[in-house]
Amino acid sequence: MLKYPKPIEDLIEDFTRLPSVGKKTAERYALYIYTKMSQEHTTLFSNHLIDVKEKIQICKGCGNICSDEYCSICKDQTRNHKQVLVVETIKDLYTIENVNEYKGIYHVLNGAISISKGVGVSDLNIDSLLDLVKKENLEEIILATNATLEGEITARYIKELLQNYPVRITRIAHGLPVGGEMSYADEMTLLKAMEGRREY
Ligand SMILES: [Zn+2]
Repeated sequence: MLKYPKPIEDLIEDFTRLPSVGKKTAERYALYIYTKMSQEHTTLFSNHLIDVKEKIQICKGCGNICSDEYCSICKDQTRNHKQVLVVETIKDLYTIENVNEYKGIYHVLNGAISISKGVGVSDLNIDSLLDLVKKENLEEIILATNATLEGEITARYIKELLQNYPVRITRIAHGLPVGGEMSYADEMTLLKAMEGRREY
């Protein structure tokens, strides 16, 4: 089998590590970079990759990504810090935040409990949520994990963990089919899901 020169082969391998990128797409990207991308853009591209790892940190408050110790949402004193919306991923946080309706703060779990994927409670930011509940006098925790089996198991686990604390626990009304992920929801669906949240 004819192999590409090593730098191209290495780049192909790098691209195949990305989700949804197969060998053929990776091959196309790598060749594109060599043949079509200017030196300037290529340098920028590689700098951006490094910057993402070096300049971004996890917010100490909520688990969002930011450039400082705390993210802009946690730092915003006009928001309701007694209302915490629990999401699986940073992407979910951005999806909800960009609807521009929610005025509380967030807590990012960084995934969901999954037996098949080997993700357990200790792999998620659940302890820090418990700490928050113990420390702050919270009014409401809104569980906005996905309407998947993993999302439901995770919501149930958190509910049981926090049931003896004086905090209202609600679950957003997923107007989504089971198995649907929040990131695919449109604004209207999300708004309805937030408005229709129920005691859980
Ligand atoms: Zn934050």
